[in-house]
Amino acid sequence: MKGEAGSMQRHEKPKQEGHTWGSMRRTAFILGSGLLLLVAFWNSATWHLQRFWGASGYFWQAQWERLLSTFEGKEWTLYIIGVTQVPNLLFWSFNGLLLAVDTTGKPHFISRYRIQVGKNEPVDAEKLRQSIRTVLFNQWVISPPMLVLLYPILKLWGDPCRRELPTFRWFLLELAVFTLIEEVLFYYSHRLLHHPTFYRKIHKKHHEWTAPIGVISLYAHPIEHVVSNMLPVMVGPIVMGSHLSSITMWFSLALIITTISHCGYHLPFLPSPEFHDYHHLKFNQCYGVLGVLDHLHGTDTVFKQTKAYERHILLLGFTPLSESIPDAPKKTE
Ligand SMILES: [Zn+2]
Ligand SMILES: [Zn+2]
Repeated sequence: MKGEAGSMQRHEKPKQEGHTWGSMRRTAFILGSGLLLLVAFWNSATWHLQRFWGASGYFWQAQWERLLSTFEGKEWTLYIIGVTQVPNLLFWSFNGLLLAVDTTGKPHFISRYRIQVGKNEPVDAEKLRQSIRTVLFNQWVISPPMLVLLYPILKLWGDPCRRELPTFRWFLLELAVFTLIEEVLFYYSHRLLHHPTFYRKIHKKHHEWTAPIGVISLYAHPIEHVVSNMLPVMVGPIVMGSHLSSITMWFSLALIITTISHCGYHLPFLPSPEFHDYHHLKFNQCYGVLGVLDHLHGTDTVFKQTKAYERHILLLGFTPLSESIPDAPKKTE
């Protein structure tokens, strides 16, 4: 793919634009059918999981009620802890570990799994410091007002701190819906951010890192943070009128997943980060999270011809994919 280097700065192929509306209709149809199928098979699909969950459901209900009585009359505080402190603590614990590897290159066991070999070895300390400042700004200045605003909106549907926890089945259904909504909102807002005007003014910042690391998941212009990072994740719980427990789990999961997709290591037994890593490398491919919409809009066609695509699998062993599927030494094109 050496010839690709010159086209790195191109944002869109003009001929893709004509297909966009047709593809969007197709997308709506396929997502709609997918949702119908999901509902149709929901009971049988979740029956086993619900059984597995079984008695521990009562355990969690009891824990939640204990928490509620501790925070009686201060549900708002409980809400703020649930939507900010818990997800952020998990984010920084995970990123702390990744940063230790990024800055020291140790343990070697982990750095062997680096996707873009030779990049960030070691990571530029000054660039990292600047980036972390932006991440903290987004996390502690931009996000909180949005999350404060989310509370009364959620209350329109039902109290997020209500006594009854959602069932495990309901929680799984919520996760499926949250994921679909995030995919749609993230894909289109992200593609819009690649429009030359928005790209220059807003999204370029996030792309300063062509070989991303974990914390870069939240390294973005404030407008991008609102539109592309926060809203796609917040809309799901509003649509579903979710319980605080679901929201906390979802926000935490979303932060962990986005960290993994930016971390720069294709680690065993974790979701593959190849897709978004390739987006950072090439700019005009792989805009989504799951890749469904990229498939439908044809924004992953170049990606599909690469070694990165062959490596875009769940690694179920300990041999790094850069070793088992090495880059071709030369391409005869
Ligand atoms: Zn990114
Ligand atoms: Zn982008």
